[in-house]
Amino acid sequence: MEKINLDLVHELIIDVPDFPKPGIVFKDITPVLANSEAFHQLTDALSELVPQGTQKLVAIESRGFILGSAVAHKRNIGMALARKPGKLPRAHFKKEYTLEYGTDELQLHKDDIKPGEKVCIIDDVLATGGTAQAVEDLVQQAGAELLGHAFIMEIDFLKGRNKLKHNVLSLMSV
Ligand code: AMP
Repeated sequence: MEKINLDLVHELIIDVPDFPKPGIVFKDITPVLANSEAFHQLTDALSELVPQGTQKLVAIESRGFILGSAVAHKRNIGMALARKPGKLPRAHFKKEYTLEYGTDELQLHKDDIKPGEKVCIIDDVLATGGTAQAVEDLVQQAGAELLGHAFIMEIDFLKGRNKLKHNVLSLMSV
């Protein structure tokens, strides 16, 4: 398959120093979403990255939702939402995880993924890996088969992939 040119996507991602906290370089993908050509290229590339045989995406709040929607449409598959607490109205699995300061939690509706279903987790950035690791746990609780993780970008020095049990796929690493 022809390799998708991601030069425009690379160009449009903005590094924002000291956001949301001093010392963090935030990778702002919103200019990519705002550019139709770049968003198209990104969606095409992510759609190819998601492993063949994937039956459902598990998208991480909130930028994962945007990417997951576009890819789910293109690949003609469904999407389940891994959400912050207090957002899902029905019975859900939950997993608490550690942040730099304190803890957070992600939740997944119990009936959004079926046992044995082949799923792929999707998000924009893999940093320390704590978030994606929590979603791996949710997928395990659901009894689904995790084929891998698809990210736009992996921040290499944070070594997030070392926390993850499953295949990590990313379009670019920094
Ligand atoms: P982590 O759990 O450290 O891998 O963080 C991943 C989650 O936080 C993802 O949902 C990202 O969207 C967000 N995130 C973490 N670090 C960054 C960063 N430097 N730039 C943009 N998003 C980030």
